Amino acid sequence: MKNSYEGNQNPEEIRSEYVSMDKDYSWHPFTQMKDWVEEDPVMIEKGEGAYLWDFNGNKYLDANSSIWTNLHGHNHAGLNSAIQSQLNQFSHVSYLGLGHGPGSQLAQDLVDSCKTTDKNQGLKKVFFSDDGSTAIETALKISHTSAQRLKGKRNPKYLSLNNSYHGDSVGAVSLGQVESFHNNFRSLLFPVDKVMNPYCYRCPFNKASYEPGIPAHESKKCQWECIGELEKAFASKKRSDNESYAGLILEPGIQGVAGMVVQPDGWLEKATSIAKENDTWLIYDEVMTGFGRTGPTYAYQIDNIPPDILCLAKGITGGYLPLAATLTTEEQFSAFLGDYSDFKTFFHGHSYTANALGCAAAIKNLNLLKTESDAAKRKKQAKWLRNALSPLWKLPNVGDIRQLGTIAGIELVKDKKSKLPFHWSERVGVKVCEQLKSWGIITRPIGNVIVVMPPYCLTQREYDLISSGLIESISRVSV
Ligand code: PMP
Repeated sequence: MKNSYEGNQNPEEIRSEYVSMDKDYSWHPFTQMKDWVEEDPVMIEKGEGAYLWDFNGNKYLDANSSIWTNLHGHNHAGLNSAIQSQLNQFSHVSYLGLGHGPGSQLAQDLVDSCKTTDKNQGLKKVFFSDDGSTAIETALKISHTSAQRLKGKRNPKYLSLNNSYHGDSVGAVSLGQVESFHNNFRSLLFPVDKVMNPYCYRCPFNKASYEPGIPAHESKKCQWECIGELEKAFASKKRSDNESYAGLILEPGIQGVAGMVVQPDGWLEKATSIAKENDTWLIYDEVMTGFGRTGPTYAYQIDNIPPDILCLAKGITGGYLPLAATLTTEEQFSAFLGDYSDFKTFFHGHSYTANALGCAAAIKNLNLLKTESDAAKRKKQAKWLRNALSPLWKLPNVGDIRQLGTIAGIELVKDKKSKLPFHWSERVGVKVCEQLKSWGIITRPIGNVIVVMPPYCLTQREYDLISSGLIESISRVSV
């Protein structure tokens, strides 16, 4: 492989060779390739801390943590060395019928990381896979089978939140509710019920109460109508099916792809207690929210409401290698125990399950996150982020700013008063992110929502740079 600092070739020549190979052979995710061939793409050559450099030596702040994966920065000495020492032992062996040190250690560390101080949570078993989607598929199959075997639900059903996204494999797409991504695949999917998500900014019940700068859910007018909708969903399921749901799947604290929709205080407790009353397992998708993004290691630890199944990926390796985990209780695990001839085995798994390099990175990541200094750093980062974003409230096209921990979403609107959204065809989010590149900042929008979610290693000045870049870019695009 060529790079700009070894050998004699000019960096621009190296870059254009790679660009031409890319355009000839690569197919990028969530990308209109007809447009891509016309583009002059940023080609990344190296990373260090919160920064990425392209072949021309341009430096970019990685403000969405490389699609929400990177936690401690690029080229981190500790993570590099954990991976390198494992590399000197072995990189990968099958987890079918074999075990290994990094797998055992990580399984224990993950279970320990889920323990909350005052509640004896029951997550006890770890099934490894490769990415967020496979973690969700695993949760789906485990809950499906254990609901049948333990609860006698012959045809277990699921409930998910409006606009929820849980991955791109077919099971995960079935659970998801993002019409624009999922409609094309409708005939491949199994039916999953949808219930209103607590999107306070566009709450259909309390529209009048919203004032810019004041979180919508702090409105005195809120009567928890969204929780009422959840109650109705459970009640109608009981009537129509004679079975309650097997699982309610949700991202605790904040829904990512839905537009960084932060749940109001008290929502998780209310929603989960209804699920529990209806004998429904809580499946938490902490693919985005896990590993300190919202403050504690997992978002559910904010309210201390543990799930029955927990799905983890993205930041699990600090954003270095693909790995995922699905954690279950001893109860669900027991549904798969029996004599060989009972055929109760979980017939599911992947070639790269518990990849040893990924496990080594994840062990190191959890050790880093556990230190008091890291927890204090994340707290400080969240505060700097909030301060950096606060001047944006006064911009005429900033409708809402939502933040939990070090995750933030800025919703742009055509008209602030009426909250009229920009039409998708205006591609306002994309245009703002294009402008941000000229400020040396990389992120990706979700429709009209600009995501700010950097790794945990920024200085206050770098947050201020993001703020200035956002103010300038939003102002230029939305006038
Ligand atoms: N769940 C959530 C909440 C996600 O945000 C994502 C990815 N954005 C996934 C699942 C799927 O993860 P992956 O892309 O690693 O399959």
